[in-house]
Amino acid sequence: MGEANPFTLVGRKALVTGGSRGIGSGIVRAFAAHGAEIVFCHLGDCERAWELKEDLSSNGAVVHSLECDVSDEKSVAALSKGALERLGQVDILVNCAGIGGDKPFIEITVDDWDRMISVHLRGTFLVSRCFFAGMLERRYGRIINIASQLAYKGAPRLTHYCAAKAGIVGFTRALSYEGAPHGVLVNAIAPGPVETDLLMELSEEWREMKQKQLPIGHFGQISEITPTALLLASEAGAYYVGQCLSPNGGDIMI
Ligand code: NAD
Repeated sequence: MGEANPFTLVGRKALVTGGSRGIGSGIVRAFAAHGAEIVFCHLGDCERAWELKEDLSSNGAVVHSLECDVSDEKSVAALSKGALERLGQVDILVNCAGIGGDKPFIEITVDDWDRMISVHLRGTFLVSRCFFAGMLERRYGRIINIASQLAYKGAPRLTHYCAAKAGIVGFTRALSYEGAPHGVLVNAIAPGPVETDLLMELSEEWREMKQKQLPIGHFGQISEITPTALLLASEAGAYYVGQCLSPNGGDIMI
């Protein structure tokens, strides 16, 4: 008899926000490949959401897609209801929904600021609070928040983004104290620059400069981030509490 696979998610129910493309879609694919049943949400990305759901479903996975604005309380309540109707419960939550915003500080409007903080920080709070109590009750849960190495490092033209991501790191640490004694593990991932639509919003000049500086010599691929989510979601990650793991190609050092 071989040893049990510590990365298996068979029998687990997962909700991934921002799952239609980019890092979130990679996490949905990895979780499905390891046996989880999944609901993912997106905002205004119906075509790609449908394609992802169809692709995985046709290969036998149980995957559902819902639209939701994670910054909106009513929309999140509808997401929670929809996810529970489809899955029965949520054992693993990945808060991945996010937006970019490339602006010098003096051009950031109050609306820009509020939107950035709302999608990342309020969204992480709103979605987590829908499922935390159930996880505590069942004495099992995993919450994985997608932060960014920029939470630590900062970056010009991204003050609102960096502030939101630093907030997510603090939220993760604080909530992990309340969850860990009851089997609910809360951790974060702080990726470096990953080749997604969000990164493509930044200027070509910046991207060229950044690739040259990166010790590893290339932007992160989605497949280089998803194994960290799988680790934290599975039994292999059973001793991680309040951590922020950072696959970043060495970018944190420059
Ligand atoms: P992406 O633009 O490819 O995907 C973003 C996803 O979030 C999409 O599914 C989109 O529909 C969804 N979304 C956006 N706003 C939403 C909202 N209000 N409600 C619900 N869903 C919403 O972006 P990505 O690069 O894959 O980023 C995913 C996460 O990873 C984000 O939190 C981002 O900040 C973080 N991150 C990205 C990088 C990078 O370099 N790409 C680096 C570090 C951290």
